[in-house]
Amino acid sequence: MAMNRIQFQPGLSLPALLEQFGTEAQCEAALETARWPQGFRCPRCGQATHYVLHVGAHKTFQCQACRVQTSLIAGTLFQSTHLALTLWFLAIYLVSQAKTGLSALALKRQLGVSYPTASLIQHKLMQAMAERDARYTLAGQVLVDDAYLGGELAGGKAGRGSENKVPFVAAVSLNAEGHPVYVKMALVPGFTRKAIADWAKVDLSPGCRVFSDGLACLAGVTDAGCQHQPTIVGTRKPKDLPEFCWINTILGNLKTSLGGAYHAFDFAKRSSRINLNNLCESSIVGSWATWRR
Ligand SMILES: [Zn+2]
Repeated sequence: MAMNRIQFQPGLSLPALLEQFGTEAQCEAALETARWPQGFRCPRCGQATHYVLHVGAHKTFQCQACRVQTSLIAGTLFQSTHLALTLWFLAIYLVSQAKTGLSALALKRQLGVSYPTASLIQHKLMQAMAERDARYTLAGQVLVDDAYLGGELAGGKAGRGSENKVPFVAAVSLNAEGHPVYVKMALVPGFTRKAIADWAKVDLSPGCRVFSDGLACLAGVTDAGCQHQPTIVGTRKPKDLPEFCWINTILGNLKTSLGGAYHAFDFAKRSSRINLNNLCESSIVGSWATWRR
């Protein structure tokens, strides 16, 4: 069998993670650099000179000019946490590397924390990813496809008529080399031109070039100022076409992620509460990190 070059890409191994972020001091240094790349500055007066205090569990800076104290974790994802940063970094690693999605129960077991703690960590990480997602739109060359979630609820109708089927749009932007850069997934009320136009106005940058199959409603992206280049696939599906390979990878990863994170799932009732982007992002991150370097 041919080697799948996506699956065989190098990622961050667990020993490498522990080498880089295995101690509290390493995690604190990483967080401090992320917050203040030029070194600590007092948020009140802008002064750089400070004392370092260890009053609670986490590092605190005291400004030498105005004496205001600033915790390293204040205003971050880790605000008010009593948990070690090493535990949080490990959680980020586990959630972002899990190809099959990670339930709060699995996180509880792997981190050795209580279920409510694992659930809180999972929720906060998902929220942080959702906020980051909301800040960007897809630009340049963008592949778009229509898809459905669910449809296999026991006792219901199967196939397209299933009441458990939820329509959504999947999109991925590509760089000049044709490698994926960002992913967007969004639930839509249906596959109509208006629904696609409304979605495109939120998630796509005007002027981007959208490639899709010939599904008529996808031309709605032009109402949002995007160019549209449909590929007439005839009887073939996008999954059979190499130019749509990244969309197919993402949809495959999403399906696997949902399987890992949610077992029996009523899509029609609950899909509005899950963030598709998070599920897919955490699963694609392994395939994608290498391309972005
Ligand atoms: Zn100050």
